[in-house]
Amino acid sequence: MTTKVTLIPGDGIGPGITDATVRILEAAGADLSWDWQLAGMAAVAKHGDPMPEQTLESIRRTRLALKGPLETPVGGGYRSVNVALRKTFDLYANVRPAHTIRPGGRFENVDIVLIRENTEGLYVGIEHYIPVDGDPKAAAESVALVTRAGCERIVRYAFEYAVSHRRKKVTLVHKANILKFSSGLFLEVGREVAKEYAGRVECDDRIVDACAMQLVMKPESFDVIVTTNLFGDILSDEISGLVGGLGLAPGANIGAHAALFEAVHGTAPDIAGKGIANPGALLLAACMMLDHIGDTARADRIRRAFATVIREGKTLTRDLGGTANTDQLTDAIIAAL
Ligand code: NAD
Repeated sequence: MTTKVTLIPGDGIGPGITDATVRILEAAGADLSWDWQLAGMAAVAKHGDPMPEQTLESIRRTRLALKGPLETPVGGGYRSVNVALRKTFDLYANVRPAHTIRPGGRFENVDIVLIRENTEGLYVGIEHYIPVDGDPKAAAESVALVTRAGCERIVRYAFEYAVSHRRKKVTLVHKANILKFSSGLFLEVGREVAKEYAGRVECDDRIVDACAMQLVMKPESFDVIVTTNLFGDILSDEISGLVGGLGLAPGANIGAHAALFEAVHGTAPDIAGKGIANPGALLLAACMMLDHIGDTARADRIRRAFATVIREGKTLTRDLGGTANTDQLTDAIIAAL
C-alpha cells in the first residue's frame, strides 16, 4: 500500500538534497506518495508564516514527514520551526544513529545511537531579560524545565530501542553534580527505569563533560546514549564528527502519533545554491523512515548502495574530501542500488 508522506524541502541546501533523496527513493522503488509542503524561510516568502497551517494539517493527516533543514534566525526573529514542530506533534524522542561507514578515518568502530529528549529542558522557550538600572538586558534567564514523566518516557524509549535493536548498553548522560534538580531528576528517574531492564540491557551513567571527552578518546565504548535536550543537541554533532561529519548523520523525531525524519545538519548557507551538498544525511533519514513503516529490506538496500559508494571513495562530495557534486553522488548511489 502506498504510504503518504509530508515532504518539506526546507531552506538553503534543503531543496537540492531533497530532490536527490526523492530520486534515490524512487529508483529503489519505494512505494511513497509525497505531499510537498513549505516551512521555514521558504514558507515566510510564500505565506508570510514559517510554519503554515496547511503544513501542520498535512502532517496531522500523514503522521509522517521527511524534512530538509530550516533556517532559524539567530537572536531575534521567529522561534525555531524545528523546535515548534517537535513540540506541536510531541515528537519527544530524537534518535540519531552514527556508525563508521568509511574506513581510514580517525575511528574505525564507532556505532553509537544517541537518543535525545526533544521537548523539555532548556529548549522549552521560557526565557526573558531582567532589566536593572535602565539596562533592559542587564541579565537574561532561561528555564530548564524537566518533568518526571518526560524523563521516564525518554529513558524507557532508549531501553526499548536497545532491546528491539539488540543493543547491549544504555548510558545516561547528565550534569547532576551541578544541576542537582533538573539533571538530578533525569538521573534518578533513569536509574529507576534501568532496574526494569536489568539482565537484559546494561546501564551506566556519565557526566556530560566527561562523556564528551571519552567520545573522542574511546568512542567504541559507547552503545546507546540517552540524555536531555541541550546535551543531546551538542553531543550528537560531536558524534557525527566521529564518523565523517554532518553529511552522514540522520535523525528521527518520534512521538506517539507522528514521526518526522531529517538530517542532523542545518541549511549550510556557505554552500547553498552551489549544488555540492552531500545528500547522505537526508537519505539515511529517509531510510530510517522506511524502517519506521516496515520497509526495512528496501532501507537496507539503499544503505548498502550508499555505503558502497562512500567506501569506494571515487564519487565523494567535498565534505568527505572529494570533488563530486550532489547530482554525481546521487547518480552513483542509484547505479549501486
Ligand atoms: P550547518 O549544519 O548548516 O552547517 C555547518 C557546516 O557543515 C557548514 O560548513 C556546512 O557547509 C557543512 N554542512 C552541513 N550539511 C552539509 C551537507 N549536507 N553537505 C556538505 N556540507 C554540509 O550549521 P549552521 O551553519 O550552524 O546552521 C545554518 C542554519 O541551519 C541556521 O539557520 C540553523 O538554525 C539551521 N539549522 C537547522 C537545522 C534543522 O533544520 N534541523 C539543524 C541545524 C541548524
